[in-house]
Amino acid sequence: MQVTSSPFVDGFGRRVTYLRLSVTDRCDLRCTYCMPQHMIFSPRSSLLGVAELDRIAEAFVAGGVRKIRLTGGEPLVRKDLPELLRGLGRHVTSGRLDEITVSTNGSQLARLAEMLAGCGVTRVNVSLDTLDPDQYCEITRGGELSDVLEGIEAARAVGLSIRINTVALRGVIEEQFEPLLLYAHSRGMALALIETMPLGNTGVSRVSQYLSLTEFRRHLSNKWSLSALERKSGGPAQYVEVKQTGGLLGFITPLSCNFCASCNRVRVGSSGRLYTCMGHEGSVDLRPALASAEPARQLDLAIRDALRRKPERHGFRIGQAGVNGIGRHMSVLGG
Ligand code: SAM
Ligand code: SF4
Repeated sequence: MQVTSSPFVDGFGRRVTYLRLSVTDRCDLRCTYCMPQHMIFSPRSSLLGVAELDRIAEAFVAGGVRKIRLTGGEPLVRKDLPELLRGLGRHVTSGRLDEITVSTNGSQLARLAEMLAGCGVTRVNVSLDTLDPDQYCEITRGGELSDVLEGIEAARAVGLSIRINTVALRGVIEEQFEPLLLYAHSRGMALALIETMPLGNTGVSRVSQYLSLTEFRRHLSNKWSLSALERKSGGPAQYVEVKQTGGLLGFITPLSCNFCASCNRVRVGSSGRLYTCMGHEGSVDLRPALASAEPARQLDLAIRDALRRKPERHGFRIGQAGVNGIGRHMSVLGG
C-alpha cells in the first residue's frame, strides 16, 4: 500500500525534506576522526536488505522528503547498491524526489562512477582531507590517495557533479587548504570544509584535531576574497565565492556557528534505526514497523512519533574546558 500523507514536520515546526540513508556501517578506510583502527562493526545479519531500505525510503518520500543521500560507512562497498539505486530512481522519474546523491571516500569510484551515473546519480560528495599521499595514508590509516584522484577523474568523465568534503583538521588544513582549493576549483568542483565533531572514540584527541572554521575563515579572508552567497534553505554549508578562482567554498560549522534552527534532515542507519539528530544519543528502531502487517502505515506512524521528539539542537562542544560528544561513531549514520 502506498501511503501519501501530510508532510513530516518536527516538534519545532521544521519540515523534514532530506533523508540520509546509511547502507552500511563498514568501510575500507579508518579515518582518524571517524573511527578507531580496530572498529567493531554491526553484525552483517543486522544490515537491512535492499527491499527494507527501499521501503523506508518510500515512507520518507510519502512524507515529503525531496532528497535522499546514500552514505555509510562507505556506501560503495555494498555490492547490491546498483539494485537499491535503480529502485529508488522511480521516485525521481515520478517527480516525487528531486535527487539521489551519494557520499563516498572515493576509493572505489574509478570502478563504480559509471554505474552511479547509469543509475541516475548526478552528484557525489567525495571526502578528501589532504593532497599529500603520505598524510592521506596516515589520516585514513592506509588509504591510497591515487585511488581517490583516479576516482574523481572517472566521476568527472561520466559527468557527475562533485563536491570535495574536507574535514578541517588542525595541523593539516593550514597547509592543505590552498592546494585543495586550487585542485577543486580548477576542476569545477566545490570545496566544503567541515569542523570535526566529537562522535565516538577514535583513539585520537578531539581537542588536538579541532579547528574553529569561523576563526579559520577570518584568517583566509586575509588572502582570499570571499563573497558570501545567500544560504540555501536547509543545508548546513554556508557558501562563499572565492574571487580569485571563481569557485565555491562551503563552511560547515556545527561547533563554532550552530545551524540547527534550519535543520531539515534525519538519518537512518543501516540496521534500521532512525536518528532525528546526529548530536543526540537517542534513536528509534524502525524494524518492528517494517516487519508489521502494514509496514507503510506503521513506518509513517513511527517516523511521525520520533519527529515529535526531534531535539531542538545538538549539544556538541570541543574546547579547552572539555569535550561534549556522544558515543556513536559517525560511520553509523554517515555524516
Ligand atoms: N565514507 C564516506 C565518506 O567518507 O565520505 C561516507 C560516510 S562519512 C561518515 C561522511 C562524512 O562524514 C565524510 O565527509 C567524513 O569526512 C565526515 N566525518 C566523519 N567523521 C567525522 C567527524 N567526527 N566530524 C566531522 N565529519 C566527520
Ligand atoms: Fe570510512 Fe568515511 Fe569514516 Fe573515513 S569518514 S572511516 S571513509 S566512513
